[in-house]
Amino acid sequence: MNKKVFIYANKTENSARIEKNLRNKLMKSGLRVHEEFGEDTELILCVGGDGTLLNLMQDLDFPKTPVVGINTGHLGFFQEVPPEKIDEMIYQYNQGNYTLQSFSTVKGCVAAADGTYRHTGLNEIAVKGLPNYPVHLNISINDSFIERFSGDGLCVATPAGSTGYNYSLGGSIVDPRLHLLQVTPIAPMNSIAYRSFTSSILLPGSDTLSISPCGAQDSKLTVVFDGRIAEYEQVKEIKITLSRKKVNMIRFGNLQFWDKAKSKFL
Ligand code: NAP
Repeated sequence: MNKKVFIYANKTENSARIEKNLRNKLMKSGLRVHEEFGEDTELILCVGGDGTLLNLMQDLDFPKTPVVGINTGHLGFFQEVPPEKIDEMIYQYNQGNYTLQSFSTVKGCVAAADGTYRHTGLNEIAVKGLPNYPVHLNISINDSFIERFSGDGLCVATPAGSTGYNYSLGGSIVDPRLHLLQVTPIAPMNSIAYRSFTSSILLPGSDTLSISPCGAQDSKLTVVFDGRIAEYEQVKEIKITLSRKKVNMIRFGNLQFWDKAKSKFL
C-alpha cells in the first residue's frame, strides 16, 4: 500500500519552490501526499531549517511519526537532506535504506496562581526574569535544595539542544545518545553578595529540577521553549524533567555525531 506522507514547510519562497518540486517527485514515486497530518501519517517531510523542525514539533505536538528534514535553512543540524538530493532521498526511503535517530525532549510544568501549564522543547526550556533585572530563584534537584540562583535565568537543554542557545551561553556540546539534561546559567552573579554556580551542571535523565522564585518580585517569569515565549505573573514553582516524547528523524547517511558537530562548528 502507498505510504501516507505529510509535508510541513516554512513560508520562504525557496521552500515553496522546493515543496512544489518535492510533491511532484513524491507523486511519481507512488507516495501519497495528504494535506492534513493524522494518526495514519507514516512520514513527515519537513522543508526548512532547524527552526522549521522546532515549529513542526510545537504545532503537531511532538508526533512519533518519523521525519525527513530537507534543509533550506542555514545550519541544518536536524535538517540533513540538501534539496538537490531529493531524488536520492525518495529512492533510499522506498528501498528502506535508512536508520532512525531518536532525540530526547524536555518538559516543564509551571505552577502559577491561576493554574498549571505544560511546555515541551526539543532544544531547551529557558526560565528568565524581567528584562534588564536580575532574578533570584531557589533551585532544587529531586527536592534537595542546591542553590539560590541570581542572574538573568537558566537554560535547561537536551543533548540535541546543546548546540543551540546552550552553546552560546558557554554550555557543553553533548552527544544526543546520552540521556541527560544540561542546566546552564544565563549571566549568573557571583560575588560575596550572591553565590551561584557559574558553569553548567549535568543531571541524569531521571532527575527533576525545581525552580521557585525567592520573593514575590521574582515570581513574574518568562518560559522560553524552543524560541516560543510564555509569560507568567505569579509563578509558585517550575518543575523540569526529560519528557517521554521523542523526536524520530530518518537518517540516510553518516550517524557519527562528532563528524556533524565538527562540520557545523569548526
Ligand atoms: P532563530 O533565531 O531564527 O535561529 C536560531 C539559529 O539556531 C538558527 O540558525 C537555527 O538553525 C539554529 N538552531 C536551532 N536549533 C539548533 C540546534 N539544536 N543546534 C544548533 N543550532 C540550532 O530561531 P529558531 O530557528 O526558531 O530557533 C530557536 C532556537 O534558537 C532556540 O531553541 C535556541 O536554541 C536558539 N537560540 C539561540 C540563541 C543564542 O544563541 N544566543 C538565543 C535564542 C535562541 P537554522 O538556520 O537551520 O534554522
